[in-house]
Amino acid sequence: MPLSERYRNLEFKERVERLKREKKAVILAHYYQRPEIQDVADFIGDSLELAKISMNLDCKIIVFCGVYFMAEIAKILNPDKKVLIPHRKAGCILADSIDVEELKKKKEEGYYIVSYVNTCSNVKAISDIICTSRNALKVVESVNHDRILFVPDKNLGAYCRLKTGKNIELWDGYCPVHERVTLESIRKVKERFGDALVVAHPECPEETLKNADFIGSTSQIIGFILESDSDTFIVGTESGIIYTIEKELEKRGKHKKLLTPDPIPICDQMKMITTERLIRSLEEEIYEVVLDPEVAELAKIPIIRMFNL
Ligand code: SF4
Repeated sequence: MPLSERYRNLEFKERVERLKREKKAVILAHYYQRPEIQDVADFIGDSLELAKISMNLDCKIIVFCGVYFMAEIAKILNPDKKVLIPHRKAGCILADSIDVEELKKKKEEGYYIVSYVNTCSNVKAISDIICTSRNALKVVESVNHDRILFVPDKNLGAYCRLKTGKNIELWDGYCPVHERVTLESIRKVKERFGDALVVAHPECPEETLKNADFIGSTSQIIGFILESDSDTFIVGTESGIIYTIEKELEKRGKHKKLLTPDPIPICDQMKMITTERLIRSLEEEIYEVVLDPEVAELAKIPIIRMFNL
């Protein structure tokens, strides 16, 4: 890294640390965040880990470096704290694919609604239970209802249906980043690295999952790669996770070859959080997540139901 860049990084880190102290703020960052954001985060994790961590923080401000629904969860679980997201347009295309009115009709028709965590607070407020990619199978297994509607990710829903054998209807939503992790995108890399193990997030298309060596959430993928005896992996999820894994490998004095599918899966929404945006968010205390208290109370119920499983 050039010297000028190193100075810039150091200066950024010092400014963030000073602002965190002054404001009594804590930074939570998702695994898909840029490396420089991960480097100044107090905690890095998946949606479930970060939601749980947010409930035990001694701070006034939570700065959520992720996408909007994640910051909303932190606010739902911490109504008395100020929750900020550094870019107010950092939304999730999958979460935004749900029509709340249509979902209300499904609820009235008698469906038990299992909502993936990638949903906005209005959707959570009318859901029966929430799940993450880590606990989706456990959550679906726990449901004793003959009409289950899984929203919004059809790939994760289909995976749950296959594994549990339950009668599940699927919302027709998908994550455009994981949808592009096709067999073809993996084949191109596998041609050059025949011995690579393929790990895939359950938001990937069914065909990809059928041909994967391991299927898991972001934190399960990290655990699998760290523990595996293999040396080469094709990582079928958003590429930000590679930085996290490399740092963990470095701590353990290990090296493994981590390859991405071709094209590289990148979530532009996650990358909207930049160093400049983070500094501005801390300095000016923007953008605050504000929720209707009634919606927040209702949305909390299915989240706590998931925690209690
Ligand atoms: S990777 Fe997909 S599911 Fe995750 S935040 Fe981006 S668009 Fe949403």
